[in-house]
Amino acid sequence: MTPVKRPAGEPADEMRRAGEAYDIVIVGGGAVGLALACALADALPANVAVHAAPFVGAPVGRDVRASAVSAGSKRLLTALGIWTALAPHMEPVAAVDITDSSLGDAFRPVLVSYDNTVEGGDPATYIVENERLHAAILEGAARRQSVALIGGAAATGYVADEHGVTITLADGRTLRAPLLVAADGRASRLREVAGIGVVGWQYRQVGIVTTVRHQKPHRARAVQNFLPAGPFAILPLTGNRSCVTWAEDADRGLAIVALDDAGFLQEMEKRFGHRLGQIELAGQREVWPLEMHLARSLVADRLVLVGDAAHLVHPIAGQGLNLGLRDVAALTEVVVDAARLGLDIGSSIVLARYQRWRRTDAAMSAAAFDGLNRLFSSDSTLLRTVRSAGLGLVDRMPALKQFFVTEAAGLTGEVPKLLRGERV
Ligand SMILES: Cc1cc2nc3c(=O)[nH]c(=O)nc-3n(C[C@H](O)[C@H](O)[C@H](O)COP(=O)(O)OP(=O)(O)OC[C@H]3O[C@@H](n4cnc5c(N)ncnc54)[C@H](O)[C@@H]3O)c2cc1C
Repeated sequence: MTPVKRPAGEPADEMRRAGEAYDIVIVGGGAVGLALACALADALPANVAVHAAPFVGAPVGRDVRASAVSAGSKRLLTALGIWTALAPHMEPVAAVDITDSSLGDAFRPVLVSYDNTVEGGDPATYIVENERLHAAILEGAARRQSVALIGGAAATGYVADEHGVTITLADGRTLRAPLLVAADGRASRLREVAGIGVVGWQYRQVGIVTTVRHQKPHRARAVQNFLPAGPFAILPLTGNRSCVTWAEDADRGLAIVALDDAGFLQEMEKRFGHRLGQIELAGQREVWPLEMHLARSLVADRLVLVGDAAHLVHPIAGQGLNLGLRDVAALTEVVVDAARLGLDIGSSIVLARYQRWRRTDAAMSAAAFDGLNRLFSSDSTLLRTVRSAGLGLVDRMPALKQFFVTEAAGLTGEVPKLLRGERV
């Protein structure tokens, strides 16, 4: 295989003198940055560095969230050899029930129910705790010889020139590579340094996340209770446990998480419904500000944005990470194709292909989830009537339901090879 091409006129020695030299530097050691490192290392004879502050191997800390991992993301994780370690912790979602009611309603009748499987009968979604997911991808990156995991001081800036990028860290160290990937999350420092603005807004909601144990088994069914303050999702985990991801009016949400356990549980019971019997808290609670943004550009000179640095979406459909993994699959293919043709992998012509590929999907997804949240997070009589008619109609249209399931599984559009389960 052709080695990754260094830009002409800059031999490896010269790059090394300018700082620690790599073929690709990824700043950000979240699930997206680490998965990208694995994918690139598998497909190219390249030295890939993942830099994350405070330290790439540090425990994720208080991330008590669980993620809905799509069938497409499962294929990518399988192709990277990461799925096997995760499989025992992955709870498949076989079916989804949707309700739409007021907070004070005694019952939350199911308005739409659908089979959550894709062609071949595989689940369209699996639920896993973020800490397990992160640990498995980190382990995958750590066992790849050509991936360097670099922790320590935060990346503070970068300068791109004709031949490469020099990244500066807060402790004065520098890293150098022909291509820099910003996987540094929602408040991306590199995006800011590149002067790339975002279009977006803050929701007047917060996301409350916790885990509960329930008396009765969930039978692999996820529930989305649409309530006037926001969606209340019950996502099945292994055992008789579920992760609750709950969008609530911001002031009220902060007051709810500050309650003692008994008060918090009482608020949850009001929204949970009775189907799973008695519930008890089975983990910490956490609150997330909810925002939406889209970077005005996904690329700059020798820089490319992936994951939340590129797009932040409302968690209503549990798709933020899946979008980030779609970036991983597309960027890997673009970089690998360029390297095999002997092109400079950081050149604008190469990065433009990634931008064309990923921009529409990110924009359409952000708009769709924003629209869903606006439509359902309201108690207006008019909107409730429209919703109820719409949900009733959807429930009687199996083909439409199947369309939504396939979309959410990430298996439509121009699907990159890794999401089809193929090697790049
Ligand atoms: C309540 C909630 C529920 C969600 N549920 C789902 C779901 O069910 N399914 C789903 O697909 N998505 C979900 N998401 C979205 C998903 O969690 C994110 O899209 C995903 O975690 C983004 O990953 P990332 O790697 O891009 O960013 P992050 O996980 O934020 O990682 C960023 C990394 O960059 C590092 N970093 C930051 N700045 C610097 C710097 N200057 N120098 C060095 N390193 C730096 C950080 O330390 C970290 O390692 C949810 C989000 C929320 C808020």
